[in-house]
Amino acid sequence: MRRKKVLVRVDYNVPLNDDLQVTDDTRIKLSLDTIRYLLEQEAKIILMSHLGRPKGEVVDQLRLDPAAEALEKLIGKNVKKFDDIVSAEIKDYIDNTMNFGDIVLLENLRFDPGEKKNDPQFAKSLALLAEVYVNDAFGAAHRAHASVSGVAEHIPAVAGFLLKKEVDTLTSLLENPGRPFVAVLGGSKVSDKIQVIKKLLEKVDTLIIGGGMGYTFLKAKGFEIGNSLCEEQHLAYAGEMIELAKKNNVHLALPLDTVIAKEYDKDTDKKMVSVESIPVDWMGLDIGEKSIELFKNEIAGASTVFWNGPLGVFEWERFEQGTKDVACAIARSSAVSVVGGGDTLAAIKKYKLRDQFSHVSSGGGASMELLEGKELPGVAALLDQ
Ligand code: AMP
Repeated sequence: MRRKKVLVRVDYNVPLNDDLQVTDDTRIKLSLDTIRYLLEQEAKIILMSHLGRPKGEVVDQLRLDPAAEALEKLIGKNVKKFDDIVSAEIKDYIDNTMNFGDIVLLENLRFDPGEKKNDPQFAKSLALLAEVYVNDAFGAAHRAHASVSGVAEHIPAVAGFLLKKEVDTLTSLLENPGRPFVAVLGGSKVSDKIQVIKKLLEKVDTLIIGGGMGYTFLKAKGFEIGNSLCEEQHLAYAGEMIELAKKNNVHLALPLDTVIAKEYDKDTDKKMVSVESIPVDWMGLDIGEKSIELFKNEIAGASTVFWNGPLGVFEWERFEQGTKDVACAIARSSAVSVVGGGDTLAAIKKYKLRDQFSHVSSGGGASMELLEGKELPGVAALLDQ
């Protein structure tokens, strides 16, 4: 890397407010280890990222200038932001004007339709800017896009520190977990987690299922779940997973009780009932006290915990207790704790627990695909795997 032109794919898909300021710079902070290393190597650092969903055209609100400013503050160095992704002027600037140890940031990659299509010409024009490619965007590693996989066909391609840490942590979770290994799954949909549930049932000692998806499992076990979320089309699958858990000697821990409401509303009346007595016109929006105790006990005895998905509608105070208590239990436990997923991250941010887990994955989709056992395009393209 020493005194080379290095093209770095980062994940600066950061939230912006109406004044176009970055409201959470976590993803930018996560890129600093790789950038600092390249600064030590006196590389010419050419950063690139996507932001939002501009659909292949320029959208002024999705330019990367706010990310460049946030990076400047964090790294204490000037970051030159281009208004284009690739052009003769940019190439000329990098080759002839840029100093070693300087940082530039290209414009939002998704302004070009070639990015998502993995257009070979677009990938090649990106690669022509540099001598080496570093992928540090774990959050985009499951996408076969030009800046993630196509570019690696043209110049030597290696993993950045963040991507390496994510892949190593999640892989060792599957290959070599400390036991007992407890996984906690929640969130609204079974359909999003079909593959991961199956894979985890080969690996874990206990699988806890709560959140909206828990009710499909309860119904598959024969409980009446009223108006709670239910994916009828996945009832048979849920039944198969209940059988698979028995066959694999996995303790499948489902809610014992639930907090129910008549309407899906943040201020609605609630009550706590056993899962055996959910009235037909009520819906479960959180796990109940007994379930919280059961899940906390499982977590307290674990050596490894993986958690993805809230256990109730945690966005609303009246239905947040299950998610809050389980999050605190995982944070407090001495187990190796790995947490992933957009809503799960929002929950740990809400309860100010972010620093209390062994590893918080920066990629929701990518972490789930890795746990499903899939090869990620952004990892497959690299030399050093
Ligand atoms: P997902 O997008 O699948 O990760 O699900 C996250 C969402 O699931 C959150 O916005 C929660 O509000 C929602 N959720 C969790 N538990 C329930 C529930 N019992 N009923 C309806 N939505 C839920």
